[in-house]
Amino acid sequence: MIVRDASCACGDIRLRCKGEPVRISVCHCLECQKRTGSAFAAQARFLKEDVEFLQGEPATFARTGDEGGAITQRFCPRCGTTVWYAIDNDPDRIAVTLGAFADPSFPPPRFSVYEERKHAWVAFNEIEPIKHDW
Ligand SMILES: [Zn+2]
Ligand SMILES: [Zn+2]
Repeated sequence: MIVRDASCACGDIRLRCKGEPVRISVCHCLECQKRTGSAFAAQARFLKEDVEFLQGEPATFARTGDEGGAITQRFCPRCGTTVWYAIDNDPDRIAVTLGAFADPSFPPPRFSVYEERKHAWVAFNEIEPIKHDW
């Protein structure tokens, strides 16, 4: 089984994900733009039971998603990197931020969410078609 480690920029927060993610997506919503400081976010959801928390005590920031669901971000109090977040309406899984893996060979996203908020210049080389959630 493939095992991948994710960590924040300073390395204080570390977790291990076993197996392939159940969903990999990009999100263009304004909240994700704020969270990442970038034009869109990329994340991989794993079953909670497949994630091992190795090290660190993340700080939390709870926010309401653009659709109204609650999301609790876990970020490093030292360097500020969001490493994962919990989604209230998907309690069995957590979303690990793609950048925390620092792995350019990570599988590509298959879902693109909140495309009506996508910056006009953003386009993806689609190895396989991306499903557009909306
Ligand atoms: Zn850190
Ligand atoms: Zn979003």
